[in-house]
Amino acid sequence: MSAHANAPSVRLLQGRDKTVREGHPWVFSGAVGLVSGDPSPGEAVRVLGANGDFIAWGHYSPGSRIRVRLLDRAEDAVIDERWWSSKLDAALGRRREQLLDPRGACRLVFSEADLLPGLVVDRYGDHCVLQVHTPGAERMRDATLERLSALLSPAAILDRSDEEQRRLEGLPAITPAADPAADARAPATRISDAGLQFDVSLGAGQKTGFYIDQRLNRAAVASWSAGRRVLDAFCYTGAFSVHAARAGAAALMLLDSSRDALDAATQHLLLNGFGAVPTEIRRGNAFAELRRLRDEGRSFEMVILDPPRLAPTRSQAPKAARAYKDANLFAMKLLAPEGILATFSCSGGIEPAFFQEIVRWAAKDAGREVQILQKLGQPFDHPVRLDLPETEYLKGLICRVL
Ligand code: SAH
Repeated sequence: MSAHANAPSVRLLQGRDKTVREGHPWVFSGAVGLVSGDPSPGEAVRVLGANGDFIAWGHYSPGSRIRVRLLDRAEDAVIDERWWSSKLDAALGRRREQLLDPRGACRLVFSEADLLPGLVVDRYGDHCVLQVHTPGAERMRDATLERLSALLSPAAILDRSDEEQRRLEGLPAITPAADPAADARAPATRISDAGLQFDVSLGAGQKTGFYIDQRLNRAAVASWSAGRRVLDAFCYTGAFSVHAARAGAAALMLLDSSRDALDAATQHLLLNGFGAVPTEIRRGNAFAELRRLRDEGRSFEMVILDPPRLAPTRSQAPKAARAYKDANLFAMKLLAPEGILATFSCSGGIEPAFFQEIVRWAAKDAGREVQILQKLGQPFDHPVRLDLPETEYLKGLICRVL
């Protein structure tokens, strides 16, 4: 009998334990039968099969559709701060090489994909930004902070948790920092990405400040930009454009709805010495602006499309598919013959094959033949966990539009 045999337990319903037994690490609310021992939010529970046999330990989240997130399939595991810290050590160990660059940016912890459900940690030079999205991860907050401080001695650790994600797990919105001035004091930290410099706004930027998941894709996309007039749609702080400029783009158009993002993008071009590349700034709803540019008779030899997450889950996929299709359709219409389209989706609710199908619909409506030159995905610091297909969210296609 394990020392934890008295821990609270969650028994699964008959016929509802198959996916969990086969490796998927989530227990959905509909699969839950008897809950014993009155577990509190974030407590470690024993997940039992319908016949009462032990399957795994997991973090309990009574308010969430994902009722238990599995942690360990060893019955004698002790799920405590030490357990959590050892997983954190392992995650950082996997990024040992990335940590050597003092100004580098990378993801240190990618939630379930690093066996730490609910926790995301990004590193921007000597700053860390974390997101705590489940009651289990919230319980381990102090252990997380302590361990990060011990291992990395960061100048500051900021919390940029997503309010909506926390709400879905019954967690209150985060008050930015114990010290309210901390956000304002950490306005920007300069990172170096593939030899280019970016000022990341940690207190106010989107996501955790910079789209580090696109890091390796930018080089792949930029390798097609030499001599081309490039439209960078949904450009945020211009990282794709800076890479394209370095690779010899003939001209740039920065398009985004956010004034701050466009200002930062302009700054980043200057900061990296590309102020001489002819650059147009266009602010507005890109879905409408792409159409308008077409109506104005504009054309480009390269279009980069990197819209925000339109379908976080599968239920939003049909509506998002229409938006993706329209954006891709108008991007194709803007492309000169033989132009390059680099098109992305970071929607977890849209699978890679479906995304490709959406791009095919766009090509059909645009009346263009399209070749896929390269398929892109997530960098190694955002790994895809084989047992959790939901961790595969970013996909991209570099296409030639004939
Ligand atoms: N390509 C960027 C990341 C894009 S994130 C990079 O490499 O860093 C998505 C961007 O889309 C954000 O900058 C956001 O401000 C912008 N955005 C969201 N909705 C938009 C809309 N309807 N029209 C234009 N921009 C939009």
